Amino acid sequence: MNLWVLVFTSLFLSQTPPQTADGQDVDGNWAQGRQLVLTFDDGPAWETTPVLLDYLDDLGVKAIFFVNGRRFMGTLPLTQKNRAILEEAHRRGHVVGNHTQTHPMMSQTPPEVQRKEIERTHAAILKVTGVAPWLYRPPFGGMTGASRVVLRELKYTNVMWNVDSNDPFQRHVNLAFQNVLRDLAQFGRGVALFHDTNAWSVEAVPRIIRSVYLDNCQRVTRGEPVVEFSNEIEAFWQPRSGKPPEPPLVRLQEAARRRARMTAWCQNIRKGAGSP
Ligand SMILES: [Zn+2]
Repeated sequence: MNLWVLVFTSLFLSQTPPQTADGQDVDGNWAQGRQLVLTFDDGPAWETTPVLLDYLDDLGVKAIFFVNGRRFMGTLPLTQKNRAILEEAHRRGHVVGNHTQTHPMMSQTPPEVQRKEIERTHAAILKVTGVAPWLYRPPFGGMTGASRVVLRELKYTNVMWNVDSNDPFQRHVNLAFQNVLRDLAQFGRGVALFHDTNAWSVEAVPRIIRSVYLDNCQRVTRGEPVVEFSNEIEAFWQPRSGKPPEPPLVRLQEAARRRARMTAWCQNIRKGAGSP
């Protein structure tokens, strides 16, 4: 196999969702380590999402964006601006997931319309990013039987959350910050819910990440596992046999590298080191 075939094959494989994804639910409580996944719903939003993308880059964190098709489809100047932001999020290595077309209450929506809501946004994300989405977040957290039928056909994983910024209701950066750290202290790992359409949510994110990094320094000192920011939802799949699968070697190696980077960062923190 020549080099280019190898490069092409590995690119293709890295973007193909694992076939065990269909029908799985993730709630953030199962994980092999202390992974924390940041998820952002209801965008893309040209006013607020670009600021968030820069924060995430500065701090070395990859996230998941659950987007609504209506925000970035069509020819209106607004949707074109949002589409450019979505392309940028994908280009920077974030995962793009499906949050339906118009964000309806699915339980009050006819089954055939529910199907269209999911399928149209699926096609729109594929068109913009070139990658078929395979992660779904139900609007208002409301899963239905009709949604499940479509999601299974398209081999989606349904991603709920256990760490909640509560940002639609408590509209302040300090409250989003406190809510996330409180839930993280309780669960030690998880999937965190934000809305990148809110300026206060976006501003809370770098504070949360820095706080977790500083807390990790204490963990390193105590010899405990550190909290790892990740956008690999596979880490949260529930074992169907009741016994957690062994973490793959590659994940263990990456965790060891992350720990080494974190240790070095903690040692240099007083010298103004960037992100670990
Ligand atoms: Zn939503």
